[in-house]
Amino acid sequence: MSLLEERWRGVLDGMAEAVRRAGREAGSVRLVAVSKFHPASDIAELCRLGQLDFGENYVQEARAKQAELDGLGIRWHAIGPVQTNKAKEVAGRFFLLHTLDRADLARALLRRLPEGETQDVLLQINIGEEPQKSGVAPSGAEALCEELLKGGLVSSEGPGLRLRGLMCLPPRCGEGEEARPYFAALRQLRDELSQKTGLSLPELSMGMSGDYRQAIEEGSTMIRVGTDIFGPRPVKA
Ligand SMILES: *Cc1c(COP(=O)(O)O)cnc(C)c1O
Repeated sequence: MSLLEERWRGVLDGMAEAVRRAGREAGSVRLVAVSKFHPASDIAELCRLGQLDFGENYVQEARAKQAELDGLGIRWHAIGPVQTNKAKEVAGRFFLLHTLDRADLARALLRRLPEGETQDVLLQINIGEEPQKSGVAPSGAEALCEELLKGGLVSSEGPGLRLRGLMCLPPRCGEGEEARPYFAALRQLRDELSQKTGLSLPELSMGMSGDYRQAIEEGSTMIRVGTDIFGPRPVKA
């Protein structure tokens, strides 16, 4: 077994154990393998083993890998910040965009989405209100949701942008228990938003190497794990 396969299986085991410990249903958490900076050959190897969800941060890198790995049935997740002028490269081209955080990006995506198609999105929440991080502040999330809904920019059904839930990259991420309170806060915010807007928001994208067990215990439905699967990231050339 290759080191890559061994690491990947280790994460699957860790996930399954956390799911069990939390008393959750087997299969209720999706593993998104974060492949940024790693070669397409690593992605192809995991793909052959049955790993089909991959996360990329940079639109250009993701688009190049999509072209190279076309036809393998990969579900690509866009998990990095998206500039409005890149909307054309994202709309309709990813299984899920995790980082919608403003109305002007929603407008740009919708404009670029082919008629009749659906692009699933998550709202990125800056759960620790850190100035350097993207995402809408928790206190602004309801207003953004209302703006997106009233403007017809998102809905709970397709076609168009379909809002599926929330994502966060908390302070102290990757640090196990330090991150847990932020995961709990994201879940609570989801429950509140869901109640206030009538949207079901079933997905919570939270947890990475170093804290995915805690995230699963706090209700994550999607963990984004890079280092624990692929090893340390090569330095970007
Ligand atoms: C890089 C990245 C990850 C994966 O981080 P690891 O610590 O390598 O598991 C998860 N989420 C986002 C948004 C990232 O940018």
